[in-house]
Amino acid sequence: MSDLGLHESAVRDSLSFPWIEPPQPGHTLEVAPGVLWLRMPLPFGLDHINLYLLRHEHGWVVVDTGLNTPQSREVWESVFTEVFAGAPVLAVIVTHFHYDHSGLFGWLVDRFRCPAYMSFGEYQSMFVTHPKGDEGNWAFSQFFERCGLSDEQISDLQPMLSKMSYDIDAPTSFHRLRENGLLKIGNRSWRVVVGSGHSPEHACLYSEDDQLLISGDQILPRITSSVCVNVTEPEANPLGDWLASLRRFRNLPDSVLVLPAHERPFHGLHHRLGQLQQHHDAHLETLLTLLDSPKTVAELRPALFPKVRNSFDLLMAIGETLAHINFLRDEGVLTRTFDGKAWRFGLSSSGGEVFTATEDIHV
Ligand SMILES: [Zn+2]
Repeated sequence: MSDLGLHESAVRDSLSFPWIEPPQPGHTLEVAPGVLWLRMPLPFGLDHINLYLLRHEHGWVVVDTGLNTPQSREVWESVFTEVFAGAPVLAVIVTHFHYDHSGLFGWLVDRFRCPAYMSFGEYQSMFVTHPKGDEGNWAFSQFFERCGLSDEQISDLQPMLSKMSYDIDAPTSFHRLRENGLLKIGNRSWRVVVGSGHSPEHACLYSEDDQLLISGDQILPRITSSVCVNVTEPEANPLGDWLASLRRFRNLPDSVLVLPAHERPFHGLHHRLGQLQQHHDAHLETLLTLLDSPKTVAELRPALFPKVRNSFDLLMAIGETLAHINFLRDEGVLTRTFDGKAWRFGLSSSGGEVFTATEDIHV
């Protein structure tokens, strides 16, 4: 085979970024004909989200909405006049329920009285919220106690969540996005590709003709999307869903331009999918080396997430450590025992309760 042949058939060995600089906050950049990349500021360490604006007939279709804050609404007001020049929003599509993506969903839909598009799982998830208020919630406290956190750590978590919570303005009705559904926007067809693990039924949009993939948080170029178990479903196995999604996204061609919700658009989809798989494989291997004796989630957490700056980091790190543990339980590699206060996880050979999908329901 010629050098050229080898080069063409090889998967990229790195990512490439066609745009060196992102648009200024609140500004747009055209990444394909009729596709604008809007940089929306966020008041976090991760200081932005990318939204995409798709030209359609006499107006625009918006993909993701930004956080529900006065700052985001101000950006939208300037987009309406400067970018859309008074043309209407004709539909809003939201990739998944997280509040930086869905925060202004209802606000946009109500303002333009236009349809709202989302998958069923994400629409339902907008209505599930963490317990609010400083009162304490027994299920929330019990979950983190079972993960092995101290009473003091647990009492810091709930006020932090109350302070951090941003309301989602959910639309009253929606159109359901399903895997393989086709959306005709402008003169382009977008196929819905669903991923899972970061959120339950995350919708990405794929244009085969133009080799574009609006990937939301499902595929990001540098940071890794969180894959967490939380109090809503302590027995969940989101990492199993996530790894299965990575395998399914390999069915898309490596030539797509990936348009992610954070950082910059990039080429190198298959290389990135490989990196994400390796990232989680390394976490799983680390856990297995530590389980010579049964341990709690809190005891295992520092090996995967050594840097925890605050209660929010701790919450995410515990949730993601448990996601890796639950994956290994689902594989039959780990067992769980309960010492009356916390769960302890050990290798299956050391005894304890083996988790299987056909497990009897018990308390
Ligand atoms: Zn997200």
